[in-house]
Amino acid sequence: MRELPELSVHHADPSTFPPGIAYMDGQYLPIGEAKISVLDYGFLHSDATYDVAHVWKGAFFRLEDHLERFFSGLEKLHMTIPYDRAQVAEILHNCVALSGLQNSYVEFICTRGMSPTFSRDPREAINRFIAFAIPFGSVANSEQMEQGLHAAVTPIVRIPPESVDPTVKNYHWLDLVSGLYVAYDQGADTAILVDTSGNISEGPGFNIFCVTDGKISTPKLGVLKGITRQTVFDICREMQIECVAEDVPPTKLKRADEVFVTSTAGGVMPVTKIDAAPVGSGSPGSITRRITESYWRMHEDTQNRMVVEYPAMA
Ligand SMILES: *Cc1c(COP(=O)(O)O)cnc(C)c1O
Repeated sequence: MRELPELSVHHADPSTFPPGIAYMDGQYLPIGEAKISVLDYGFLHSDATYDVAHVWKGAFFRLEDHLERFFSGLEKLHMTIPYDRAQVAEILHNCVALSGLQNSYVEFICTRGMSPTFSRDPREAINRFIAFAIPFGSVANSEQMEQGLHAAVTPIVRIPPESVDPTVKNYHWLDLVSGLYVAYDQGADTAILVDTSGNISEGPGFNIFCVTDGKISTPKLGVLKGITRQTVFDICREMQIECVAEDVPPTKLKRADEVFVTSTAGGVMPVTKIDAAPVGSGSPGSITRRITESYWRMHEDTQNRMVVEYPAMA
């Protein structure tokens, strides 16, 4: 064989970053060793569904809700895995326990997989389940949590629900990633996409809320039903703050007193600037702060927690 020229390495080394544990094919592995075939349709066609739960101070938060959403996604995509809910919960638990991470981002995925004959018929593919636990990550860094995010409302339309069911958590992210580049060009931190009617939809991995005269609104259609979004509904009910899912035009968002976004990756995060203008006073608002505090307090409730039992240190 002809000798190949030496290549400079441009990819991050997955064997050293980030730390974590994955599960695939019946085995627990260091995250850097968990690899799939390039022929997997999850990779080639984004033919996959997934979920992300988190562990905070050694316990999963609302894991049942994540399992429910994941299994309902499998059904809608005609996928099957050889594990039931309790077994998936056990696998996720084991990934976290073996990783030793007290605060963890726990992703579980089902890809279409590949068919033994590389047939193009998705019914012939053998679906693949993968799970992993890595350190907890956030949409907003600590400075952005303090000061608030700067978001750009982009003209990019989120894939409509008539094309891809948004309630099935999926990797159709090119619209979201394109939005990020539009946002970066404007000096913003993140992007907000619109729906086919021009109303606000969602951003890269988060749902959007605005507070106007003490009332909260969040887009109703064409968005993933976030578990954090649901948690905000629950918190608002408890605090007796009106919170409704409805159409949110960009003008409403821009004139709002407060704006915040929600994701398992970070929780409740303030937005203090949209396009070129400050939101309200330009600093995180009091309702956003109260909801954020309540969100983290809910992590202490035993009914929301599944405690991780870590192996004793050697
Ligand atoms: C995961 C995700 C969210 C947030 O959902 P959570 O369950 O709160 O993490 C919002 N939008 C999209 C597109 C997502 O993938």
